[in-house]
Amino acid sequence: MNTPGAISQPERFVIIGGGTAGWLAALMLQDAVKRQMRNISITVVESSKIPTIGVGEGTTAVFRQMLKYFGLDEFAFLKETEATIKFGIRHKEWRKLGHSYDGPIDDPHLVLEPNGSAPQSYLDIFSVAAGRAVMDTHLFAYLLDRQKAPYARKADGTFVAMGPFHHAFHFDQALAGKWLRKNAKGIEMIDAQVIGARCNGETGDIEAVITDTGEIAGDFFVDCTGFRKSLISKELGGSWMSYRDTLPVNRAMPFWVDLKDGEEIPPYTLAWARDAGWLWSIPTQTRFGMGYVYSDEFLTPEKAQAEIENALGHAIEPRNDLRFDIGRQKEAWLNNCLSVGLSSSFLEPLEATSIHGSIVQLMVFSNFHMNRTSEDRQAYNTFAARQVDDFRDFINMHYVTERRDTPFWQAVASRFVGEPTKARLEHWHARMPEHADFTPLPGRFAHAEQQLYYPVLDGLGLLDRAVAQKHMDAHPQLRRKAKYAADYLTAEYRAAAPRALGHREFLQSL
Ligand SMILES: Cc1cc2nc3c(=O)[nH]c(=O)nc-3n(C[C@H](O)[C@H](O)[C@H](O)COP(=O)(O)OP(=O)(O)OC[C@H]3O[C@@H](n4cnc5c(N)ncnc54)[C@H](O)[C@@H]3O)c2cc1C
Repeated sequence: MNTPGAISQPERFVIIGGGTAGWLAALMLQDAVKRQMRNISITVVESSKIPTIGVGEGTTAVFRQMLKYFGLDEFAFLKETEATIKFGIRHKEWRKLGHSYDGPIDDPHLVLEPNGSAPQSYLDIFSVAAGRAVMDTHLFAYLLDRQKAPYARKADGTFVAMGPFHHAFHFDQALAGKWLRKNAKGIEMIDAQVIGARCNGETGDIEAVITDTGEIAGDFFVDCTGFRKSLISKELGGSWMSYRDTLPVNRAMPFWVDLKDGEEIPPYTLAWARDAGWLWSIPTQTRFGMGYVYSDEFLTPEKAQAEIENALGHAIEPRNDLRFDIGRQKEAWLNNCLSVGLSSSFLEPLEATSIHGSIVQLMVFSNFHMNRTSEDRQAYNTFAARQVDDFRDFINMHYVTERRDTPFWQAVASRFVGEPTKARLEHWHARMPEHADFTPLPGRFAHAEQQLYYPVLDGLGLLDRAVAQKHMDAHPQLRRKAKYAADYLTAEYRAAAPRALGHREFLQSL
């Protein structure tokens, strides 16, 4: 293992897989190697015979933060990958038929004076107590609803940001992968298919991967082989923890629908709860990437297709029939192999946790654990397990709904509400959710905390106004402060949103 500044043969990091996870790993590890002045070479091995997953097109704000960190131009990214803006998720018919709520991803508490340790939840508690929608104090709720861009144009023609919050993107996974690859300069790339591994008889560490063109030796391996899990599961025998008892879907039927000429592009992901799962709709600049994520316990693929064609009013051409076991590796890092992306974990794509999770995992690994001691491995595995388990619980909360209209939704109510979800809801019947209910990740990396929970809990009708009122009654000064802030932000955002450029107009002007 090299220490900073040591002169010796470089250690060899070998990343297997050239999908989004593989190229994110290459970009982020290369950056860490430079920053930490380590003597490490990075090679990506990908197989042109095995396609990437071809779906997965919604991100969180972390993706934009990453672009900024690397000095990569957001506008170039939007232009070259046909990406669009995402302010949040529109949840259609989750609570009940005919009902819809939005989950904007900005946190209004970040622009407020903290009350004690920031960020807090007092604005949300005030909104619930006052009978207002939590999302009314979110800038992104207005931009999302009016189909706007996050920028207005100044008199001199340049763009001005509508607010300080990071938005997210929707993109074509293949184009984004190519773009990341283009920007990961100086990385060796080998086109080969890994068919096995040579491991050390004593330690079990991988010494080389065996490919269809020969062996590739390495000191550390990153398994980004997607659902194949070629190293972490197949070679090292890593065990998979299934979440199938808590999250009900196990199959996806992706398809595309072209955007019509001149049609406005929604700056949000649509998640439309259906008979046996839910339909995603994610716009790029030329098409909607759509798909039905469902449970095949309740629906055959033929019936799934018929249901969607009936709902959309036209025929669709499914691009794939994906089956998955939602869950995660028990240990994301085994021996000298780190798994990242679909090989490490997969949840249904409801809150776009996958690419987000990979970015945060790579940040944690590259910032804290590059020395790769056994303590590093243990700490990383604890972190990765907690991160994905927390995502599972957040997604599970979306399934606490009033719907009982199909066998799927009846089963969801009777079988799929997990114990952590029940415990949280019981807790929050007695008092409002607080920032302190969510343990931050090490390094305070972005996570599913109260800023994301509140709009969902509010949208699903799971917050008790009387409890919020009791909280505000006990804190009259806080109520005054919160009322002032809520009135101010609501008025400000309502007035500002019409000044933002239209989403399509903005994208076309780049
Ligand atoms: C239905 C669905 C919807 C999704 N929606 C979202 C979303 O909205 N937002 C989000 O964040 N995420 C989403 N995801 C997840 C997202 O697609 C992935 O996190 C992301 O694309 C990363 O995938 P990956 O790189 O791990 O795997 P892949 O894209 O499958 O790439 C695997 C790579 O490994 C290579 N490979 C595989 N085996 C071998 C081998 N033996 N030898 C050499 N190379 C090999 C392949 O050639 C390929 O390059 C979704 C996933 C699914 C299934």
